[in-house]
Amino acid sequence: MITALYFDGRTALARPVELRLHDGRLRVSGEGVALDLDAQRLDWPEHQRHGPRVLVLPDDIGGQIHCADGGAWDHWLADQGHRHGRLGVVRMQQSWRATLMAVALMLLLVGLMFTHGLPLIAHVVLGMVPTSLDQRVGEEVFEHMEAHWLSPSQVPVQQQERLREQLRSAMARVNHGDHGRDHGEADAPAWELRFRRSRDKMPGANALALPGGVIVVTDELVALLHDREDVLLGVLAHEMGHVRQRHGMRMLVQGSLLAIATGLLFNDAGSVVGLLSSAPLLLGQMAYSRDMERDADEHAIAVLQANRIEPMVLAVLFERLQAGQATTPDGVPEDVPHDWGIGFSSHPPTKERIERLKAASHP
Ligand SMILES: [Zn+2]
Repeated sequence: MITALYFDGRTALARPVELRLHDGRLRVSGEGVALDLDAQRLDWPEHQRHGPRVLVLPDDIGGQIHCADGGAWDHWLADQGHRHGRLGVVRMQQSWRATLMAVALMLLLVGLMFTHGLPLIAHVVLGMVPTSLDQRVGEEVFEHMEAHWLSPSQVPVQQQERLREQLRSAMARVNHGDHGRDHGEADAPAWELRFRRSRDKMPGANALALPGGVIVVTDELVALLHDREDVLLGVLAHEMGHVRQRHGMRMLVQGSLLAIATGLLFNDAGSVVGLLSSAPLLLGQMAYSRDMERDADEHAIAVLQANRIEPMVLAVLFERLQAGQATTPDGVPEDVPHDWGIGFSSHPPTKERIERLKAASHP
């Protein structure tokens, strides 16, 4: 407990009050004064060498608390165990030093972007983003997809379970094969296949990897490959490649690097929440980069080879997808939907891609 003076902000009257800090609440009591405040919301005065401490209360409450004995105030706060506690975060957010650090960090990031390129910086920042955030973003995107594009699957549950099991054991053969671990990744992220029916042409026969490990597989894709589960396995292994390398989150990080860096530095949930709410729209407009697609293909090739399947089988899907699309006289698909660029069907089967699959098929 500490004593101080309370000014209500309307009159010049100074009222003696007692302050108690307990369980994250600041209680201010005195004659005609009884306030119960969330300590984290308060604008705690800076620790200074001299002078009184003035605690300006939030606008909705108004007024100020003055303590003439700065040393006693600091001791009191320290005794409450808040010195290293959550108040530290609050103080950090308000401190000009932290602001300077943020500016310095941003300048550093911008500088590094010029010298080293965005993907490398994104890689570093990605390491600071907890994978739990990938999952939250992924669920947000999935909800958006379900609300606008998807309906419940009609693929029999047993078939769904069988396809899951096939992917699981196919992956296991790579993970515990000759190379020990695939691509040197320490621990494989969680993944989940979710079967859904496409309501309209979009996303159509498709598979999409969302941040956090959810892979959406449409009934249309299962139907298109009903007689070729080896090809379907290849597609899913490709999507697993995106999952394992966190491509979805990496793309979002690259797109909002500075916002995330600042949010992390300030431990500020606000910017992260902003990212969450814009993720469905952002991801809807994005497409995995050529490098990411190549890495995902490499992963598919590794899985297929470990399971004694020729990687070239993926060409079957390219052919079937194209056969199902209207084409211009040049053979270029017309009216290709631009949404869901992260979906498998939007990845063009470039010459280079086919060549790589071919090469991997005949070593
Ligand atoms: Zn892909």
